[in-house]
Amino acid sequence: MIVDRLERPLGSLRVSVTDRCNLRCRYCMPEQEYVWLPKQSILTFEEIARLVGIFAGLGVAKVRLTGGEPLLRHDLPTLVRMLARTGGVRDLALTTNGLLLAKQMQALRHAGLARVTVSLDTLRPERMRELARSDRHVDVLAGITAARAAGLPVKLNTVVIRGVNDDELIELIEFARAAQAEVRFIEYMDVGGATGWSAEQVFSQRDMLARLSAHYGSIAAVPSQDVAAPAERFRLSDGTTFGIIASTTAPFCRSCDRSRLTADGTWFLCLYAARGIDLREPLRDGASDSDIQELITRTWRGRTDRGAEQRLGVVERSPLYPVEGLRADPHREMHTRGG
Ligand code: SAM
Ligand code: SF4
Ligand code: SF4
Repeated sequence: MIVDRLERPLGSLRVSVTDRCNLRCRYCMPEQEYVWLPKQSILTFEEIARLVGIFAGLGVAKVRLTGGEPLLRHDLPTLVRMLARTGGVRDLALTTNGLLLAKQMQALRHAGLARVTVSLDTLRPERMRELARSDRHVDVLAGITAARAAGLPVKLNTVVIRGVNDDELIELIEFARAAQAEVRFIEYMDVGGATGWSAEQVFSQRDMLARLSAHYGSIAAVPSQDVAAPAERFRLSDGTTFGIIASTTAPFCRSCDRSRLTADGTWFLCLYAARGIDLREPLRDGASDSDIQELITRTWRGRTDRGAEQRLGVVERSPLYPVEGLRADPHREMHTRGG
């Protein structure tokens, strides 16, 4: 196991398989036009599997496929099968907006996918139209049903924005309970395509707990075995659990073991990092596994990133990048970095 300068192990890897998406969530992809990663730069499944194998050899046990929308990548179950067979990978998960999940669920499960997280910001189709420019709410719900029917543990991710969907917390908990899933409320972050972000729109962990305890009564914190888990979990008096990812007001950088690989093989040590490390070039230039292992090890050992914690110190906080900054380098986008 290798650790960084703050003694944090390299434990999990989020792999973005495409920067394309079939939704346009207002906190992630609000623009009309985007600069996409060049096609020839996108890693093949063999290249992704080779890199994941190298990371796994260095202690990465948890791998999460993301995007963009990962299910837009042609034949994703084939990649899942390759990664599920990779020695050292103990937990292979997928984060998806759910639109294409029902169609692909069986193939993904047979390929060895262990867990699914579906993004679900609202239970109201008309609100989804406004939030994500899509009228396919019914497909998201079908995706959640299919994942549960396939027997996979399902989490639901909800980005909570004040004045937009903060009135749905209770309904979402009730929906999750009925769907046998666990909902996790995520604070609105100022990173990537969140160019409309403002501090006033952040509905904080504290706000969420106040709203929920006014309805449900006492809420207990659930102690976690996994120190690196981003969500804090809570339990209602009837046993229903939910999570809160307080990435904006109470970030968890101190225990962060995550890094991110973009679809073009750029490795980011932090969601907020200005630059990534190009792993595609050595990969395509004939570097050996041990050369790449050495590059990853050296880089991780020098890691000091605490992006979200540092943002806490910014007075008059505004979005990390204006839209011109995002156009200048699409790697700064959340849909490229993988969220
Ligand atoms: N398209 C897939 C999806 O939406 O689940 C996977 C990629 S998406 C970038 C991963 C996660 O990032 C989603 O759960 C999304 O809600 C979250 N996300 C994107 N922008 C965000 C923001 N500004 N604040 C908080 N979470 C954000
Ligand atoms: Fe929404 Fe995910 Fe697509 Fe971003 S990548 S626009 S969060 S569905
Ligand atoms: Fe980890 Fe960076 Fe997120 Fe902090 S901001 S939790 S260091 S990825």
